[in-house]
Amino acid sequence: MQSYLEQQLKQRQQNALYRTRKTHESEQGTRLFIEGKSYLNFCSNDYLGLAAHPELKTTLQQAVDKYGVGSGASHLVTGHSHEHEALERAFAEFMGTERALLFSTGYMANIGVISALLGRQDAVFLDKLNHASLVDAAILSRAKIHRYVHSNLTQLETLLTKSDAELKLVATDGVFSMDGDIANLPKLAQLSKQSEAWLMMDDAHGIGVLGETGRGSIEHFNLSPNDVPIIVGTLGKAFGVFGAFVVGSELLIETLIQLARSYIYTTALPPALATTLRTSLEMIQLDGWRREQLQQRIAYFRSEAEKHDIPLMPSHTPIQPIVLKDSQLALDISQALYQQGILVTAIRPPTVPQNTARLRITLSTQHEMEDIDKLIAALTPFTHQMPRDDI
Ligand SMILES: *Cc1c(COP(=O)(O)O)cnc(C)c1O
Repeated sequence: MQSYLEQQLKQRQQNALYRTRKTHESEQGTRLFIEGKSYLNFCSNDYLGLAAHPELKTTLQQAVDKYGVGSGASHLVTGHSHEHEALERAFAEFMGTERALLFSTGYMANIGVISALLGRQDAVFLDKLNHASLVDAAILSRAKIHRYVHSNLTQLETLLTKSDAELKLVATDGVFSMDGDIANLPKLAQLSKQSEAWLMMDDAHGIGVLGETGRGSIEHFNLSPNDVPIIVGTLGKAFGVFGAFVVGSELLIETLIQLARSYIYTTALPPALATTLRTSLEMIQLDGWRREQLQQRIAYFRSEAEKHDIPLMPSHTPIQPIVLKDSQLALDISQALYQQGILVTAIRPPTVPQNTARLRITLSTQHEMEDIDKLIAALTPFTHQMPRDDI
């Protein structure tokens, strides 16, 4: 075993695909401390700067005093507290659906939903750039998997028309996690209706960030939850905490409670986190200024990048990738930025398709314009190495 593993790891290293973890010593924010040195952070998903917000810290501390640290059991045994219940009600109201169900993570929510709804005789249709958790969920469900070229809804329509599966589920990211573009939900909703397929959307990067009141991708397009009957949101990104939810009809949620194995066979989220998430949800709903400030950062980054000839993707979300194609080049630039005290992760296959390695820059409400200036200045010496075709 040892020599086999060693060889496998060497191979990864040679292909510039080896992953290492950076250990930091700070709370989340635009500055992270690594070995006592401060780094400007452009790779967190804490888009609204809530992960270390004083009000949320206090809420959690007080909730721990009241409820302790652990939930003690799964939801169906004795792990379900009135704090979980209250949070689910708040999410259903926020999203305008009959019910909501809390999961421990977004990964588990996706796994739970697709494997509960589909079986061998069914089919699932996935965008090629969907998050790994949707792909894994589809595999686990044993349904037939169809993958369409990113955002190619003509191809999706053909696949849907040809399929004679009993049940058909179209599953898409709302905001694509590595490209930052938003799925064409109006068209997806229309296609799904027309083919009698169910539509599921994972809005990990849209929820809290997009829409006037932070209801994410559906609000961005002025759609109702009826258009997208299964919505997953994650709570470790814009919400700044941990966990995930699924919203939909009474019947959908009851089905998940009965059948979603990643809901049933796992310990419930600590109740104090549910309390904290309720405060986080209130802040997301009431404090539109965080979303506005974030949009200003995004616009500023894009206009400065254009001025300095840095090639951008067509993204108007906080995810602003610079595609370099070559994994080694992505690593080299990431390393060069690190030397200058700037954190930007190199994202390489298999997280992204072959030959599309990139720097994935994420912006936060908390970034100052001067932080963005520093990033642009650090990137500018590399512009001649940045590919410009077909991106
Ligand atoms: C982060 C992410 C997930 C996983 O959510 P966790 O709560 O971190 O497990 C699922 N889907 C997408 C699109 C994501 O970006």
